[in-house]
Amino acid sequence: MRVISITGLSGSGKTSTIEHIIKELISRGYTVGSVKEIHFEAFAMDTEGKNTWRHRQAGSDTVTARSANETDVLYKGHMPIYDLLAHYDQDFVLLEGVRDAVVPEIAVASEDGKPELSPLTFVVSGRFANTHSGTYKGLPIINGVTDTKKLVDLIIEKTPSLMYDVDPECCSACGMDCRTFLSKHLKGEIDINTCVLKNSKVKLTIDGKNIYMVPFVEAILKNVVTGVVKELKGFKKGKKISIEFVDDSE
Ligand code: SF4
Repeated sequence: MRVISITGLSGSGKTSTIEHIIKELISRGYTVGSVKEIHFEAFAMDTEGKNTWRHRQAGSDTVTARSANETDVLYKGHMPIYDLLAHYDQDFVLLEGVRDAVVPEIAVASEDGKPELSPLTFVVSGRFANTHSGTYKGLPIINGVTDTKKLVDLIIEKTPSLMYDVDPECCSACGMDCRTFLSKHLKGEIDINTCVLKNSKVKLTIDGKNIYMVPFVEAILKNVVTGVVKELKGFKKGKKISIEFVDDSE
């Protein structure tokens, strides 16, 4: 799964840019999901007095409204972005206004605005591209509405599969943090495949979801599992060892 974020102030053309990118990705055969960050603090889909609101008031953690047309799952509070992304399995996920994920960013601004760049910004777009062309601070300016194919070509070229924001205490194998690593990849200064997670030899899935494996946990698991199973009758060396178990400890 590849994830990008489109960032910029309200009225800068974020949603129009995203709409065009979604349509172009789908026309190329990709599946697409999206997330819209709402910065209005009082916002809630649920409203006081509705049956779903009453479920929540009674103490239900996750409330679902299911109808013939749609299914809306309502979680409490502001969900961490990586927990939220664990619910997605599309080829691409577009985040609108999200800044706390280690993903490539498209900065958008109004016609006379000033694009807010971050180390993860790789292109400038939005209404700003109606009045500017060429580059902005060394980054290409591409109009997502009139030049969608070019923008999507660049997205596909630059966006690696989802990276995590691993605590440097768990992994600093590349000598930097994940955010700096991705920004260097976007500048063409580092090969994304040198991240140890891209070459992990141990895969952990819980209920079908992949859980990333930092090097020291990978080493412990690998050593413990191979150390224990080699004592079993019938054990023989193999290239791939798979273990599945049901955790019924609760
Ligand atoms: S090697 Fe990968 S996971 Fe580890 S700090 Fe660098 S980018 Fe992050």
